[in-house]
Amino acid sequence: MQVWKFGGTSVGKPERMHSIRNLITSDDQQKIIVLSALSGTTNALLSIGESLKSDQPGEAAEKIEHLKAHYDSFVRDLYKTSEGLTKGQKIIENEFSFIRSLTRIKPFTLKQEKELVAEGELLSTQIFQAYLEELEHDSILLPALEFMRIDADGEPELDYTERKLRELLRAHGDKKIIVTQGFICRNPRGEVDNLKRGGSDYTASLIGGAIRADEIQIWTDIDGMHNNDPRIVKKTFPIRALTFEEAAELAYFGAKILHPSTITPAKMFGVPVRLKNTMDPTAEGTLIANKTSDQVFKAIAAKDSITALYIHSLRMLNAYGFLRRIFEVFEKYKTPVDLIATSEVSVSVTIDKTDNLTELMAELRTFCELEEPDYDQAIICIVGNFSADQAGIALQVLKAMEGIPIRMISYGGTEHNISLLVHGSYKAEALNALNEGLFELKEA
Ligand code: ADP
Ligand code: ASP
Ligand code: MG
Repeated sequence: MQVWKFGGTSVGKPERMHSIRNLITSDDQQKIIVLSALSGTTNALLSIGESLKSDQPGEAAEKIEHLKAHYDSFVRDLYKTSEGLTKGQKIIENEFSFIRSLTRIKPFTLKQEKELVAEGELLSTQIFQAYLEELEHDSILLPALEFMRIDADGEPELDYTERKLRELLRAHGDKKIIVTQGFICRNPRGEVDNLKRGGSDYTASLIGGAIRADEIQIWTDIDGMHNNDPRIVKKTFPIRALTFEEAAELAYFGAKILHPSTITPAKMFGVPVRLKNTMDPTAEGTLIANKTSDQVFKAIAAKDSITALYIHSLRMLNAYGFLRRIFEVFEKYKTPVDLIATSEVSVSVTIDKTDNLTELMAELRTFCELEEPDYDQAIICIVGNFSADQAGIALQVLKAMEGIPIRMISYGGTEHNISLLVHGSYKAEALNALNEGLFELKEA
């Protein structure tokens, strides 16, 4: 079996739904189809949530009706028969009456916000399943809320998913097309929750791992992973092959085409991930598996909103156990550290989770001196084959970065990553300079 995931733009227009139906039914292979919300819907739902949080029910109601009008016109263009249209309209009435009911709950809490934001995937999958039914395809909708669950730390419970999915597939596994929601799940309290923004990719990979799929395909609006961020750099090109490790680094360090955790379950079970373009299905895309090519520099990504902490030991030289004590504090506050630079008496680290920053810093101050943190930093991550025997790699990177101040450098953690920390305002300049220096791609 294969797992195919379609993102927001791939389902965002009726004609796109028509094309993905053609894609998924073009062969006889059984597939699990994971869908995101229609493009723009998750943001619209979050904006309705913002109005409700700030106690503006009138404003929320206006936004709800505006969104509903979009769905009304969407189904009018999607279905071919009046039965299909009636089914589609009923789905919209049901879901929007639930959305309206949320506006009456006071106070509007995080629990309601999560129920609200889940509506995007609940709408898209029901609308699509009704469309497949209209065309008499052998399909079924399996509710993700019955098999996707996160633990108290927000981590997916893969064993649970595997067990539940196996039960569901035993009951419905004869269907050719199995549709389900990306992004949404339950938490340990049984409430509706989610895998964070862009989480449908992660759902697809978790399902792919759980059922040991032959392949996971992520269908989006671009022809694979590019060598640099196409939102910022004009001249970029698709990469044909990446290893799991290379793709995981790029996703984690900001390549938006993949949710940061997507590669973990796929790698765990050795399931290849193929990135494909819905707008151009014949394009080769990117295959993420165990093979790579031998270019030195493969791709660059950037992660924003990074905070750098500068920590000095009070007892200075030869102090052992210092790093352990520091990292125990990060562990206590469940704060992952991305980059580290050390000297004899100081440690600099970068983090992107800052919800416990005040407490974390207060605790570090009981045994360390802390400088004022640097906020709004960006990590620039360069992925490639950086064998330790090869001379001149760091030189090329630093030469390309000439003129851009660098606050931290991490080289040698693995043979396929070099990371640099710069102030966020230099991010675009750094990505363009590296594109020119490492790939000889000069902006016109
Ligand atoms: P979807 O809605 O299908 O999940 P996303 O918007 O989440 O799509 O991801 C696709 C987008 O990721 C592309 O349109 C592109 O702008 C952006 N992107 C950022 N970095 C890269 C990269 N290195 N390669 C390809 N796309 C990238
Ligand atoms: N709809 C969710 C979002 O916009 C999940 C996803 O698209 O992957 O973040
Ligand atoms: Mg996405």
